[in-house]
Amino acid sequence: MSEGHRIHLLPPSAAERIAAGEVVERPASVVKELIENSLDAGARWITVEVGGGGSRLIRVTDDGEGLAVHDLALAFRRFATSKIRTSDDLLRILTYGFRGEALPSIAAVARVELVTRTPGAEASRIVIVGGSQEFLGPASGPPGTTVTVEDLFFNTPARRKFLKSPVREVAVIAETVNALALAAPDVAFRLTDEGREILWYPPEPFANRARRGLGPAVAGHTLEVSAAIADGALEGVLGTPQVAQPRRRHQWFLVNRRPVRSPLLARGLAQAYHTLIPDDRYPAAVLALNLPPQDVDANVHPRKTEVRFTQERRLFDEIVREVRRALHRVPLVHVVPGGRGGPGASGPRPAAGEGAGADSVFDGRWARAETGPIPPLTSADDSAQGAPAVAVGARWPSIRVIGQLARTYIVGDSGGDLVLIDQHAAHERILFERLLGRRTSEGARAQGLVSPVIVQLGAAEAMLIGEADAALRAIGFEVEAFGPGTVRLTAVPAIAVGRAPEHLFRACLRDLEGDGGPHAGRSLEERLAIATACHTAVRAGDPLDTRMMTELLDALARAEDPFSCFHGRPTMIQVRGRDLERWFYRRG
Ligand code: ADP
Ligand code: MG
Repeated sequence: MSEGHRIHLLPPSAAERIAAGEVVERPASVVKELIENSLDAGARWITVEVGGGGSRLIRVTDDGEGLAVHDLALAFRRFATSKIRTSDDLLRILTYGFRGEALPSIAAVARVELVTRTPGAEASRIVIVGGSQEFLGPASGPPGTTVTVEDLFFNTPARRKFLKSPVREVAVIAETVNALALAAPDVAFRLTDEGREILWYPPEPFANRARRGLGPAVAGHTLEVSAAIADGALEGVLGTPQVAQPRRRHQWFLVNRRPVRSPLLARGLAQAYHTLIPDDRYPAAVLALNLPPQDVDANVHPRKTEVRFTQERRLFDEIVREVRRALHRVPLVHVVPGGRGGPGASGPRPAAGEGAGADSVFDGRWARAETGPIPPLTSADDSAQGAPAVAVGARWPSIRVIGQLARTYIVGDSGGDLVLIDQHAAHERILFERLLGRRTSEGARAQGLVSPVIVQLGAAEAMLIGEADAALRAIGFEVEAFGPGTVRLTAVPAIAVGRAPEHLFRACLRDLEGDGGPHAGRSLEERLAIATACHTAVRAGDPLDTRMMTELLDALARAEDPFSCFHGRPTMIQVRGRDLERWFYRRG
């Protein structure tokens, strides 16, 4: 640079950091870019681990096609992409990425390690810190790719300062994962925060994924829309007017599989629900629009979160029409304006893991069966003819729910084998693991009772309480001495909310009396967990709808020991398709 020049090129490292700011705004943007790369690589499952709100650690692992070693360094160069070759290709973008900006941008402001293996090759590894390559060489690892991003914004302290609390950043990350999971329902997603799983989605049909993404408060009150519109197709799951939300957060728009913000689609939705919901409410919905690529411009926003349409007016009108049509297929209840606390107005929800459905089966909904019956099969559920298949655990088979037998067994099809699952035993197992799993980390979740219950105790029970105090607390019961032979029950395990508290408490104490019978060898805490699970679980005789059965099997598939309840009874029996064939003399 000679004197006289007032304009000069920035040193590359500074330029990189500035450019990175456009792509990497916060930890969630890193998560988004990495997941998109995994999807572009054809991954069938994607795991996201975060720590420290994403500032300390973000790790995305996939089973996609991987990168060849000679492409590794190039992948971190700006405008290096395998996805488009010429600028004309920009007109028909089918992948998430195409600018070749994400990896270099992330690596400019963090410490990044990428380990990858393509089928049939050795694994390799590259490490880039603040934009400079520190290692490139062989490694070991499974097929697929793992990208680890540590110390995000370590060299851009100003940006770091603008981050919200870790809890808040994780919430944004969870939203991001949720949005991409809606776009790719055939891919399994798992998100953990500080090692704790906060979201887990099995591969499933779009409508199921959409309901999962909308969260438990909305999932039971949905309509589906599926229509040809504007040279393309609209696919969607809509919350009924009753579950309209106080915020827009329950609206998700996908355009050609890309999650986007779209004022146009939001206005279309609002218009369709107009007069059906109060003006201060927003419809809950997942709308997936598939249009010919030339009708959509995805290249209008650095983070590609907005799109432009060529036929805006037509699109708007047709969306309003189709959503209205779906709404008119069901008898509608007009909502009284200002009415608070409909089924959807579930107050503030936990920041992270919401919509994960992780807790939906367990924390309260089943339990409500005590006070009101489990909702009967509804027409909305019948739309599940699409056969919700249950996750394929390593050991647990994939099961399609056929129906319920004698209000006691779930009947399923597992690749041509007939399976029968005892609904009580299955639910018991899930709740039991949940109670004890929680114990190991932070203690089982307790739910304070709005009105504490005074319980009169017999002499034996009073003795027991003294002895079992710590165990009770660990499982989630909170009791205070209240007077001679009397205690005040102020909290019950969260999984048992809705079960009559006194009844549950007494039943558990009763189970603790004596020598423990078949559970003699177990700790008080375990015996208490068994009792609580047993008295909380759905019973034989409780009607279940398809979605509940699917959810139950889903949770069971993820149990540590899904095959037996702690009474030693099986949760499932299986009749081999082969045996059926023999019984019907179809084969010799
Ligand atoms: P873009 O996605 O726009 O192409 P990126 O910087 O995100 O740009 O990625 C650069 C290139 O690195 C991609 O084009 C792809 O070839 C490769 N790549 C990145 N992540 C993965 C992954 N998880 N699996 C396989 N290839 C990947
Ligand atoms: Mg990319």
